[in-house]
Amino acid sequence: MTIQLGIPVLRLARNNSQGPAPTSRPAGLPSKLLDRFGRQATDMRLSVTDKCNLRCTYCMPADGMQWLPKEAVMTAGEIERIVGIRVERLGVRELRITGGEPLVRPDLVEVIATLRARHPELPISMTTNGVGLDKKAEALKEAGLTRVNVSLDSLHEEVFSQLTRRPFLGKVLAGVEGARAAGLGPVKINAVLMRGVNDQEAPELLEWALQRDIELRFIEQMPLDAQRGWTEHGMITAPEIHALLSAEFVLERDRRQRDGAPAERFEVRRRHAATGEASGTVLGTVGIIASVSEPFCSDCRRTRVTAEGKIMSCLFSREEFDILALLRAGAEDDELMHLWQDAMWKKPRAHGMDHAGLGTEDFVQPDRSMSAIGG
Ligand code: SAM
Ligand code: SF4
Repeated sequence: MTIQLGIPVLRLARNNSQGPAPTSRPAGLPSKLLDRFGRQATDMRLSVTDKCNLRCTYCMPADGMQWLPKEAVMTAGEIERIVGIRVERLGVRELRITGGEPLVRPDLVEVIATLRARHPELPISMTTNGVGLDKKAEALKEAGLTRVNVSLDSLHEEVFSQLTRRPFLGKVLAGVEGARAAGLGPVKINAVLMRGVNDQEAPELLEWALQRDIELRFIEQMPLDAQRGWTEHGMITAPEIHALLSAEFVLERDRRQRDGAPAERFEVRRRHAATGEASGTVLGTVGIIASVSEPFCSDCRRTRVTAEGKIMSCLFSREEFDILALLRAGAEDDELMHLWQDAMWKKPRAHGMDHAGLGTEDFVQPDRSMSAIGG
């Protein structure tokens, strides 16, 4: 059965009416999440809510977002079952909680405690905007959260408020400190640069992070905003990020294996003002996530579940697999597992968003925005 809900295509696992698709998964594959191109998903992104207390311009419109009704969102028990299958039967080795903003989910501590009780060794991290994190950090640590990534695009109240449409810079900075104090480190910071808004702040953000021994990662802006305002011109590309940083720093590629990580990492040294040469000491590292200009699809190890339980094998998937509907219909674990394997098998080779793809029919902006997927 295929259900059209808006534009994404939802497939329920008991769909045999259309005959085998050319992309059908061969029988007898091992219990892993494998795709047709030889990739294995070992890293799971789990969205626990679509709601948020900020309105970052590259993610959401100022208003008019349509939120999921409460009953559509996975409960703590449903999350536990879905994650359990992934970890115990499908070889997932790392879990990242995301959203929307995970901290706005009232039972977040319970969700994490439930997952930790079942998976004592699993690394569980969370991507958060940091608002209110100082108040919850200790409880989250105690519940079993391993570490956090905090999103922070500016250190200036005015710019921060312009970018997020909320005057909460102080709360985010308190959140970063609260997370560090609670032992939720190493804390990483995610920053998206917007042309003419915060791009010139790149070296200052890096200086701030280096002083705190925090790893900063710049993310190229992707065409995943709900209001479809992304333009190729507006995006600050990885080479531009290098150029912005190189006024004050010298970056040298970190030769360690990237190991499926989206960020390319660089060792950072200060640039000597008079000579332009690098100073001797490595001050730390910086990451650049060039999702658009240098996509890393061939080494992607991620699979995602949205807050309402749709499996997406890629941020840019146009096909979704409704594992929550199947679970609520009383499916056995085997059925849920096979749905996941089918979803993964159909993972597209690439998102088609590199420069050759943008503006051509290879790339179509998905209907779901970043916050509705779980970034
Ligand atoms: N609300 C949390 C936060 O902001 O960290 C978690 C969800 S948010 C969707 C996850 C990450 O996606 C954030 O680091 C955010 O900066 C990033 N993000 C959102 N929209 C983006 C876009 N259009 N392009 C690139 N990154 C984006
Ligand atoms: Fe909210 Fe995160 Fe999207 Fe910003 S990027 S609007 S904090 S979900």
